[in-house]
Amino acid sequence: MSSLDEKLGRRTKDNVDNKGKSRGKSFLNFAQFGDVKLYKPSEGHNLIDILPYIVSTNRHPQGIAKGDPDYILDIWIHQGVGENDDAFVCLERTFRKPCPICEEREARLKAGSDWKSEDVQDLLPSRKAVYNVIEEDEPDLIQIFIASYAYFERDGLLDELEDYEKKEEQIIFSSLSDGRSIKFKAKTHKFGKRDYFKYKRFAFEKRDKPYPESILDKVYPLDSMLVIPTYEEVRDAFFAVPDDDEDENRSSSEDKETQSLKDEVEQITEGSDCPNGHKFGTDCDEKPECENCDEKKWKECAAMQTEIKRKNRGK
Ligand SMILES: [Zn+2]
Repeated sequence: MSSLDEKLGRRTKDNVDNKGKSRGKSFLNFAQFGDVKLYKPSEGHNLIDILPYIVSTNRHPQGIAKGDPDYILDIWIHQGVGENDDAFVCLERTFRKPCPICEEREARLKAGSDWKSEDVQDLLPSRKAVYNVIEEDEPDLIQIFIASYAYFERDGLLDELEDYEKKEEQIIFSSLSDGRSIKFKAKTHKFGKRDYFKYKRFAFEKRDKPYPESILDKVYPLDSMLVIPTYEEVRDAFFAVPDDDEDENRSSSEDKETQSLKDEVEQITEGSDCPNGHKFGTDCDEKPECENCDEKKWKECAAMQTEIKRKNRGK
């Protein structure tokens, strides 16, 4: 194979591996770790071991001391930030420091935005639980699992542990010598255009054998991988402070907005019909036939038009 082909082959494989993934910055720095595999649960039953890591920095979000073990990296994340779809740790919720995105959300609320509205909801950080895991089918591979804190850690693991505590039994599931495998069921749910997992039926199972202490040298040092941005970095990405090619940036971002709004409108109008062959949710009261429109249809059409306009304004 020619060296050009070899490079093209690698490039093609990279693109296949990253299909559909955001191109933006991540909140974890994978740079020095080569090929990191992110664990994705399978629909249905799963069995994983969560392994501990030794805290190696003085910036563990919950203040666990350097040299002490932990099994989770519990953080808040802003996703889809700016034009590049970056992800940043929320400085306010994670480290009690000022966060420009949270400040903007507060400002929008103060300016009268409804807390349920998209322009406020989009600026809420989400809480993530990051773990080192080994899954049943790949016993020699340590993977990183980025889960929803609420669905996996809180309502899954901690909820199950609580039941043991009530029985005055303590399970240290991440222990190397006496840990437990975690069995759970994953089910895909849809929210808008997004798919996400919900988890249930958590159970602890005895492991076949203990892990050697030497595995601590192989697990990912989660706290030191966490990218902690400065206030200015988050602000600049969020507000996408334009440089010299300002006009170019602006027109392309406007195009994107127009396109995404168009997509949204097309989605909403699909399946709805204007009895007079006009555009439902768009042409309301613009055409002579609108005066004699069926009242129920007209109301639906007008409501949709208002909603589309509101969304457009919010962007
Ligand atoms: Zn924030």
